[in-house]
Amino acid sequence: MIRRLLIANRGEIACRIIRTAQSLGIHTIAVYSRADRQAQHVLLADEAWFIGESAVNQSYLCSDKIITVARSARADAVHPGYGFLSENADFARTCAQHNIIFVGPDEYALQAMGNKSQAKAIMQQAQVPLVPGYHGNEQAPQRLQSEAAKIGYPVILKASAGGGGKGMRIVAQDSQFMAALDAAQREAMASFADAHMLVEKYIAQPRHIEVQVFCDRHGNGVYLFDRDCSVQRRHQKIVEEAPAPGLCDTLRARMGMAAVNAALAIDYVGAGTVEFLLDCDDEFYFMEMNTRLQVEHPVTEMITNEDLVAWQIAVANHQVLPKSQTQLTCTGHAIEVRIYAENPQDDFLPATGVLRAYLPPETSSDVRVDSGVIQGDEIGIYYDPMFAKLICKGRDRQEALQRCQHALQQFFIAGITTNLRFLQDILAHPAFVTGKVSTHFIADHTEHLLPQKFTPPPQVIVAFAGLITGSEYAAQQKRQQAQTVAHSINANIPAYWRSNLAHSQLLQVQVNAETNTKSNSDTTGIFTLNITNDSQIQERRHSIKILANDDKSYQVSVEPSTQQHHYIASIDEQRIPMYACQFAEDQWSVLHSGQQYTLTIVQADHGVQSGAQEHAFTAPMNGTVVHIPITPPCQIKKGETVMIIEAMKMEHNIVAPNDGKITEVYFAAGALVSGGATVVNFIAEEDI
Ligand code: ADP
Repeated sequence: MIRRLLIANRGEIACRIIRTAQSLGIHTIAVYSRADRQAQHVLLADEAWFIGESAVNQSYLCSDKIITVARSARADAVHPGYGFLSENADFARTCAQHNIIFVGPDEYALQAMGNKSQAKAIMQQAQVPLVPGYHGNEQAPQRLQSEAAKIGYPVILKASAGGGGKGMRIVAQDSQFMAALDAAQREAMASFADAHMLVEKYIAQPRHIEVQVFCDRHGNGVYLFDRDCSVQRRHQKIVEEAPAPGLCDTLRARMGMAAVNAALAIDYVGAGTVEFLLDCDDEFYFMEMNTRLQVEHPVTEMITNEDLVAWQIAVANHQVLPKSQTQLTCTGHAIEVRIYAENPQDDFLPATGVLRAYLPPETSSDVRVDSGVIQGDEIGIYYDPMFAKLICKGRDRQEALQRCQHALQQFFIAGITTNLRFLQDILAHPAFVTGKVSTHFIADHTEHLLPQKFTPPPQVIVAFAGLITGSEYAAQQKRQQAQTVAHSINANIPAYWRSNLAHSQLLQVQVNAETNTKSNSDTTGIFTLNITNDSQIQERRHSIKILANDDKSYQVSVEPSTQQHHYIASIDEQRIPMYACQFAEDQWSVLHSGQQYTLTIVQADHGVQSGAQEHAFTAPMNGTVVHIPITPPCQIKKGETVMIIEAMKMEHNIVAPNDGKITEVYFAAGALVSGGATVVNFIAEEDI
C-alpha cells in the first residue's frame, strides 16, 4: 500500500495529484527548484524538498536527485505527473531498483511507446490502423527524402523521440524537404538529444481524437471514452472536450476497442492515452500512445465521474480496476481550456511576469479550475507557460460550452499577457459551436480568432476615470471599514486618488483592447475626459462630473467592494461593476461584462504615447542563439530568417521586415541574448 507519495512534478498537475493523494490519506512529498520555493505545490504538500536550481535539467529532470529525496523522505511511491520524467523508462527502472513504486506503466511499455517509430512498428503487428509512412531505422537524409516522395507530398516529419509538437515539420514539396529536415532534427536534438525522424503522410483536415485507456496487473483493460483535442496551435492542444462530438456509437466503440488492444499488445499497466487521427471519411489512424496521465484528463473525469489519479494509485497498489467496461458510464459533456501566459497576437510567444491579479471564476461541481498559481506568483522563463486549466461540464455540449464561456468571462488576470481572450473567441466561433473542427481550426480562422478592434462603451472609460481620480472619500471610508477585514483592500487603492483634485482636469485614456501588456501596439482609440471635481457628497459618496469625448456629461462615483480588485461605479442611474488592477506605471487591466481592456493613462500635456514598438531584429525574449543562417556582409530579402533563438524550449525565427543588407551579427551561435536586444546591424534597401 502506498502511504508516502513523492510527486516528481510542479505546477497545476502536482497540486492536482497532491489533492487526490491527501484525500486518500496518503502523505505527500513535494520537490521544488529554486524558482519554486514559494510555489503552490510546495505549500500544499505535507512536506517538500529542495532539489536544485531553476533550470529543469538541474531540478525536475534530475532523476538521481529525485530518487535521493524519495529515499531520504521514505517515499514508497513516485508519481511523475506529465512531462519531465513521466515517460522516462530509465527513471521507472531506477525507481523499481530502489523498491519505490513508479505510478505508471512498466519500463518496457515506456520504452516501447516512448519512441514513435518503434510504437508504430508494434502497433502494425497488433493490427492497429496506422498513418501510412516510413518509420525505419535508416536515417540518411536522401533515404528519408526518397521515402517522402514514395508516400507523396505533403508529408510530416516527426522526431521519433518527440512530444509536445517539437521536432515536427510539415513539408509541402520536395524542394523544401532538406531545409525542413534540418530544422526538425535541430529542434529534436535540442529537446530530446535524439534527431531520429519518421516520415508520415500528412492527413488533410484531420481531427485529433484520443481514447483514455486503463489497465491493471490482472489482465483487465478498459477505455474511459474519447476526447476531441483538435483545437491546437503549434501542434499543441489548447481546447479539449469529452466525449468527441459527432461520432456514431459504432465508430466510438471501434476506436475504444482498438485503443484497448493497443494497450494490451504491450502489457500496459495504468493510465494511457491512445491518439488517433480521424479523417473526413471517418477512417482513423494510430498516431501515438502517451504513457501517462494527460493534461486533459479532467474532461474524462467530468463525464465518467471518476478520479483518474485515484485509479492510478489503485493500479499501482496492485488492485483490480475500480470499474469494468460495462460499469463505466459517460454522462453529459465536458470542455477544458488551457490558460497560457502567451501572446496569441505575437505568434503565441510565451509571456513572463507577475500575476498582479489572479481571480478565477467561482467553482462548483460543474466548473473546475486546476491551477498551480495564486495572485502574486511569477510566471518565469523556466517552465511551461500553461498555468491554469478551466474545465466545465454540462448536461450536453451546448450547456458545457455556455458554462465555459461564462466562466472565462469571469476570469480576471492582470500583469501577464494570456490567451484568455483568444479562448473566448474560439468558444464563440460558429465552427466550434457546431462542433466542426479539424486540427487546422486555428490556422483556418486566424483573422476571426485574433481579437477584433472593439471600442468599450464610454461608461467603462468613465467608470475607470472615476476610479482613478475621484473617490478618495469613498476609499477612506472603505479603508476604515476594511481594517478588520483580513484581506485588506488598502494595497489595492489606486495610485491616482486625488484628494485635492484641481477644479478641472484633462485626462486621456488609451485603450488596448486585447492583452494586458505594455508592448501591445494594437490600440483602439484615445478617450479624452474633462473631469470636474464638483465636490458633491451625496449619501456619503463623493462624485465627480466627467465630460467625455462623446460630448456627454456623466456624474460618477466609484466604491471599492470587499472583493479585491472589484469596484462598483455609479454613473448617473447606471451601476457598472468592474475589476481593475494596475500592473505597470500608468497601465491598468479592466474587466467589465466579460471583456478585458488594457487602459493606459496618457497625460494630456505629454501627448500620446507610442504603443507601437519596433520588434525588427530584436530578440523576442531571453534565449540562446541556436543558428545563424546568414554570413555578413550579405543582402537579405524581406521575410528571410537572420537568426534562430531558442527560448522556453521553442525555436523563434528573427526575420527581416524589409529588403536590405546585414553588415554585422552581434551574437554568435550558443550566445545568450536578452529579450529586446538588437541582434544584427541592418541597412534598409533605400539607405544603401
Ligand atoms: P507530439 O507527440 O509532439 O504531440 P503527435 O504525433 O501527437 O506529436 O502530433 C501532434 C499533432 O500534430 C496532432 O494532434 C496533429 O494535429 C498533427 N499531426 C501529427 N501527425 C499528423 C499527420 N500524419 N497528418 C496530419 N496532422 C498530423
